[in-house]
Amino acid sequence: MKVPFIDLKRFEDGFIDRWESKVRELSINTSFIGGQEVAVLEEKLSEYLDISHVVTCSNGTDAIQIALRAVGVENDDLVLIPDVTFWATFEAVINVGAKPITIDVDKSSGGVDIETFFKAAKEFKPKAAILAHLYGWATPYLNDIRKFCIENSIYLIEDGAQCFGTNYFGESIYKNAQIATTSFYPAKVLGAAGDGGAIFTNNYELSEIARKLTNHGRDEHYGHGYVGWNSRLDALQAAYLNISLDYIDSRIESRRSTCSIYENYLKDKNIHHIKPNQDFEENGYTNLCIIEDHKLKSKIEQGFKELGIGYGNIYPGAMSDQNGATNKIHAFCGIGNSKVFCKSVFNLPVFPYMKNEEIEFTINSLDKLVP
Ligand SMILES: *Cc1c(COP(=O)(O)O)cnc(C)c1O
Repeated sequence: MKVPFIDLKRFEDGFIDRWESKVRELSINTSFIGGQEVAVLEEKLSEYLDISHVVTCSNGTDAIQIALRAVGVENDDLVLIPDVTFWATFEAVINVGAKPITIDVDKSSGGVDIETFFKAAKEFKPKAAILAHLYGWATPYLNDIRKFCIENSIYLIEDGAQCFGTNYFGESIYKNAQIATTSFYPAKVLGAAGDGGAIFTNNYELSEIARKLTNHGRDEHYGHGYVGWNSRLDALQAAYLNISLDYIDSRIESRRSTCSIYENYLKDKNIHHIKPNQDFEENGYTNLCIIEDHKLKSKIEQGFKELGIGYGNIYPGAMSDQNGATNKIHAFCGIGNSKVFCKSVFNLPVFPYMKNEEIEFTINSLDKLVP
């Protein structure tokens, strides 16, 4: 049996028919940019996530850039970012002309180390900070960091590309952010049929600036108040997302169920399994194991390869270690935990509608490989 790390082809009955007839309808009407589908999507997301303002855009990286610019980050401003995240978080800061300061990881949660974060904020007085909520949850200190940032006039942008559907203290995690972003890359929890992204905020002024920035800084059709981007979500992507939203609860439920089976199994195992603290209800985006015994990690990975079981290493290298970070990074704060963490990270396969046999096969195989 082969078990992919991720399989996006397990569509619900009727999904492809609905998508096909939508493509036909939008094509016949040449509704390609903006229009009803995009407006409906923003409304649905606002309701589903309980956030006042939703601004869709072309992808999750643009969403971070737009959020940074919306809060006023520009040339040479300092921005704290986690040292463990997807490269887009780093890129976004550079692409708006600002300077990233990376913050070491807290090895117990995969989030930023809070003491290092506070220390760096006091030392560097950054204009903004970004947190990346990886794996389907976030740092257990999220509320402390939110509060600290407000008290210290630091704009906090929450890169929520991996936490669509995650709840924090029983509410959508995006709800109490100053400004949060997400990605609709197909492999994310809510994925499009291509690229897409969104910015979430309850602040009307920020949402208005963000909206203009996604559309050439337009105040009116040929009046431009800002230098922005062409970062509009197209109608076909919005339509695909609108259909997908009808199934999102069952997809998330299926992911959560797989994650909890892994969790139960890994409790008794000789592998350090990281799970969110109790304030979170995870979305089941991925599973996270830390295997600091690198010989054992290689043995498992080799064994999985031979058996045809997919696995992930999210992420195998810290931001401060990327070749592209040379000369771009303003400072690295911490003691290098991020390097150890990234070398030890291992993820079991998780995706919606994984079959029981696939989960069992994965677990049984792991059982044979781990002493
Ligand atoms: C996917 C991802 C992004 C980038 O999203 P794109 O839509 O691919 O641009 C940014 N940050 C994190 C944490 C991500 O996982």
